[in-house]
Amino acid sequence: MPQIIDGKKISQQIKDELKAEVQELASKGRHACLAVVQVGNDPASSVYVNNKKKACAYIGIESRSYELPEETSENELVSLVEELNNDAEVNGILVQLPLPGHIDEDRIIRTISPDKDVDGFHPVSVGRLWIGEKGFLSCTPAGIIQLLKRSGIGIEGKRCVVVGRSNIVGKPMAALLLRENGTVTVAHSRTKDLKEVTRQADILIVAIGKERFITHEYVKDGAVVIDVGMHRDAQNHLCGDVDFADVEPFVSAITPVPGGVGPMTIAMLMNNCVETMRTQEERS
Ligand code: NAP
Repeated sequence: MPQIIDGKKISQQIKDELKAEVQELASKGRHACLAVVQVGNDPASSVYVNNKKKACAYIGIESRSYELPEETSENELVSLVEELNNDAEVNGILVQLPLPGHIDEDRIIRTISPDKDVDGFHPVSVGRLWIGEKGFLSCTPAGIIQLLKRSGIGIEGKRCVVVGRSNIVGKPMAALLLRENGTVTVAHSRTKDLKEVTRQADILIVAIGKERFITHEYVKDGAVVIDVGMHRDAQNHLCGDVDFADVEPFVSAITPVPGGVGPMTIAMLMNNCVETMRTQEERS
């Protein structure tokens, strides 16, 4: 029977560990405050923002909400982020993506101070990740490393194939697997013979944004399969980039959707917020 990797349970464990750590750090006078900025009222973004605020409340981190109207200009948003950069009370800044089309997301990401970049998207955070310096890690890939480690799945020496090369999932995923001493291949839409590449994987991580794309023909017997995708199918059921029912009988371990990678992202965002408290501790 394959191991079904329980992201809900593992993310809860992490949140409980963080809650205990926050209590201890708070007793030493440390604090964390996350500024959560949302522009417009896209319903999906509102759900994500509320979940992040709820997680902050659970762990004992203060969150400050900035809900700006859809017509907010890019310069107005830049000014707010600069103000938050200079606010000593704010340790972390999160600008919920996607932003409305008239705002340049890259400019906003680059405006956030790397010292408050709890999403890990700033080019300085990305550079630190690749050269192995301490810094904020992109939350979804960092969550996947935790899923593997806490499920007893070793990475060192394994053949890891990441399908997808986005800046928020595929590329940082590859960097983190490399840091864990995996042998890493990154595949994408121009990869030739994708099935040949994915069938090499001991650990296959799929982040392509295509509903149930990966079937058992893409997977080596006994592989570990991590599904980052998140979709609602025609029957309104949540599903991933992997055809779970088709792939599950052949693997040694697999993440379900929902309840796999999804819950880990917020847990690792909370870890990044707590990291700002740990840093205060080190500096004292
Ligand atoms: P993205 O920015 O759209 O990137 C998709 C990547 O997949 C691209 O690199 C693309 O290649 C590649 N790709 C597309 N079709 C392919 C194919 N047929 N064969 C091989 N590669 C292909 O997506 P993303 O932001 O990384 O997100 C991927 C999925 O993860 C989405 O379903 C998203 O909703 C989900 N997601 C979940 C979480 C979570 O917390 N659970 C977080 C983030 C994302 P090219 O570069 O060549 O175009």
